[in-house]
Amino acid sequence: MNILIIGSGGREHALAWKLRQSEYAEKIFVAPGNAGTAQVATNVDIATTDFEVLAKFADDYDVMMVVVGQEAALVAGIHDYFKKLENSRHILVVGPCKDGAQLEGSKDFSKQFMQRHNIPTARYATFTEANYVDAISYLENHRYPVVLKADGLAAGKGVVIAQNFEEASQQLEGMLHLRRFGEAGSKVVIEEFLEGIELSAFILTDGKEYILLPEAKDYKRIGEGDTGLNTGGMGAISPVPFADATFMQKVEERIIKPTLAGLQADNISYSGFLFIGLMKVNDEPYVIEYNVRLGDPETEAILPRIKTDLFELFRALHDGELNNFKLEIDPRTAATIMLVAGGYPEDYKKGDVISGLEVPGEVLTFHAGTAQNDKGQITTNGGRVIALTALGNNLPDALAKATTAAEKITWNNRYYRKDIGFDLQ
Ligand code: ATP
Repeated sequence: MNILIIGSGGREHALAWKLRQSEYAEKIFVAPGNAGTAQVATNVDIATTDFEVLAKFADDYDVMMVVVGQEAALVAGIHDYFKKLENSRHILVVGPCKDGAQLEGSKDFSKQFMQRHNIPTARYATFTEANYVDAISYLENHRYPVVLKADGLAAGKGVVIAQNFEEASQQLEGMLHLRRFGEAGSKVVIEEFLEGIELSAFILTDGKEYILLPEAKDYKRIGEGDTGLNTGGMGAISPVPFADATFMQKVEERIIKPTLAGLQADNISYSGFLFIGLMKVNDEPYVIEYNVRLGDPETEAILPRIKTDLFELFRALHDGELNNFKLEIDPRTAATIMLVAGGYPEDYKKGDVISGLEVPGEVLTFHAGTAQNDKGQITTNGGRVIALTALGNNLPDALAKATTAAEKITWNNRYYRKDIGFDLQ
């Protein structure tokens, strides 16, 4: 079967790499892809939200499965578009329709959803420009720190943790009045700050049945010791030592099952991955956010631990057989380190030639922002450039292997965090 993957990051390289191992996968295409996906699949230069051209491509190249890595395409309705086109061909789209994608596309929607279905989350209120005065008085009476979130997609940058009223009211003005995040900030969710430790759970679901994938912990800040600006993610670890069986049981009973029941009660059909960002507060799980696709770099840490054929897993999703599906998980620890361009997440340079990419076979190299120049050299083409994943018998072992590889791959001003996973050792 021919497969089309939508996206261009390390996550999509990992998906292409994993699907390439399936005997059922024939041609694999990635739109638009990067220099790494070109090594395991065929890149097609089509934008992720150009549905008309993507659908024509799928038709021309006999694509029967579309795996959507990236949220923007889902929120814009890629699944709905393919569904509408269906005639004799049934293309399996891995990723929810527009209504389900609202769980990620609108924070207000997802908070209302959680409240309606009694899913543990931080207390909150939502405001628009029309009730700015109420928002200010809400902030005056709130405990600090407080969390302000732009309602819509803001590439991970729309969340601010304010330490006091002055900071919070300035941020509120920036979002609601000055539209610092454009339309995404035309509504703002103000929520209680949860003190705890974060991790992410992932399921693949058809909206009724689900299969739990390995959990992961990612590292969002640019600086060591979790300091500095938020990034798309600087590294990830799987499994997460503090996510023991008792805690994961609570996650399934109090969060995953009520979430699926809520989707059914609200008549939202869902098909694809669901990523649940969690905060563990005194041993209890709370939902920080839903994402309607896998995470990046978490995908690069969890897929290498899944021994099962990913194509067969998608087929079970399609056939409504996820409950009977047995996932085989590698018990070893995966450590992923992200190499980024100096300056990221602020201004950074593109086009630097990357050297040392021939790392030892044991370490997996997933490309994120890379391209190939006229001379055939691989160059930097984004802020996050390469994700390196090593499997080890324990966390220190996995980290040591990933770090050795990280030292070998270099370019002008490349940076990576040397403390990924240190808090868990
Ligand atoms: P991303 O897409 O990067 O995962 P996002 O922009 O969708 O993030 P959230 O995940 O909701 O936004 O928040 C980003 C980060 O802010 C969280 O990972 C967490 O570290 C912090 N955060 C969010 N909400 C809270 C909260 N209620 N209490 C404490 N920290 C929070």
